[in-house]
Amino acid sequence: MTIKTVKDVDVTSKKVLVRVDFNVPMGENGDIRDDTRIRVCLPTIRHLVDKRARVILCSHLDRPKGKIVESLRLAPVARRLSELLGKPVESLRECTGPAVEKAVSAMRDGDIVLLENLRFYPGEEKNDPGFARALARLADIYVNDAFSASHRAHASVVGITDYLPSVAGFLMEKELNILGKLLENPAKPFAAVIGGAKVSDKLEVLDNIVTRVSMFLLGGGMAATFLKSEGYRTGKSLVEDDKLQYVRDLSEKARSLDVGLFLPIDVVISETLDGSTPARTVAVSDIPDGWAIADIGPQTISNYIRELKKCKTVFWNGPMGVFEVPEFSKGTREIATAISNLDAVTVVGGGSTTEAVNSLGLADKITHISTGGGATLEFLSGKPLPGVTALAEASGRILARTG
Ligand code: ADP
Ligand code: MG
Repeated sequence: MTIKTVKDVDVTSKKVLVRVDFNVPMGENGDIRDDTRIRVCLPTIRHLVDKRARVILCSHLDRPKGKIVESLRLAPVARRLSELLGKPVESLRECTGPAVEKAVSAMRDGDIVLLENLRFYPGEEKNDPGFARALARLADIYVNDAFSASHRAHASVVGITDYLPSVAGFLMEKELNILGKLLENPAKPFAAVIGGAKVSDKLEVLDNIVTRVSMFLLGGGMAATFLKSEGYRTGKSLVEDDKLQYVRDLSEKARSLDVGLFLPIDVVISETLDGSTPARTVAVSDIPDGWAIADIGPQTISNYIRELKKCKTVFWNGPMGVFEVPEFSKGTREIATAISNLDAVTVVGGGSTTEAVNSLGLADKITHISTGGGATLEFLSGKPLPGVTALAEASGRILARTG
């Protein structure tokens, strides 16, 4: 899939509407707890400013459900962006209408404005053509730099591409290149390390990438469902019982494709997962009733590290245990460290997994930390992302126009 980017269009003196994902975690008093989502969009914004475009940014924040929610205004985000860029960013209190149009027509080359939270408008999540058209009126060119919002068919992601020449920003380009390569041409051996709690979402990823990987290394909440499907007693571990047959079929498929399917051989267990009851390490055949898997055990960790050291590509999504509780964080910590020390293409996805990598200070040693969350999982599950499909089609029309 070749999508044109901001580098392929002349943006000088043009009004450029950029969809970003500034859905940052906010504290009680409107402080931004983590500005990663703002920082990752800086390359595109800086490029546009350097080229003397008039930059109109737009984003959603949280879920105001089509109504104005005072605590979800984007003004604090504009302030933080302004600090990061060392340059004023005007924060507007609406997304469409005469006041916004007036502010935009007063912009000069290199200026930046941030529209209000897109989800204050019911038309955004409904992909309403009227709302998309009203946004499009503001600009000459549309840029999608919000990979993480592109699994949603919303007006600022999908509808808008009907009305403006549309290209990708640098973050979008990077996500599509790196994740695309995992599906198309990964260096082998390729391990997918999958854990976490959203078992069924992740099973779809496993199903789609089983034909591309050399091995699966499973931990976290994934492990118990697989162990139970093989007949182990898993106590009160997290298990998706309606997925047991699906998991058996998937395991069979992996075997027939000669894909290694590694499950824990030992686990850390406890009667609760909040750290309030004692923990024990047992073989997976010895999980008593009433106990739950909380982490992978030491033998499993060393098995997984041995396999990881063989790999040229690693994708990791989902913590190996309940890493928020110190007694259950060892598996996640050791696997994160091992992955960060590999001489391989390493890609990490998922909110909790990213949090774990960041808290260990290992982010710089990972090739790519995907910003996608749900979008990353859907992409790797082989599902077309509506925002990406719309962007590809619209950017193809630019190709046709300019030859
Ligand atoms: P990500 O956000 O990285 O995609 P998920 O959202 O699927 O990951 O899951 C993260 C959560 O999984 C964490 O809160 C972690 O405590 C939980 N988890 C990990 N291992 C287990 C387990 N064995 N049992 C229950 N929950 C687990
Ligand atoms: Mg999560």
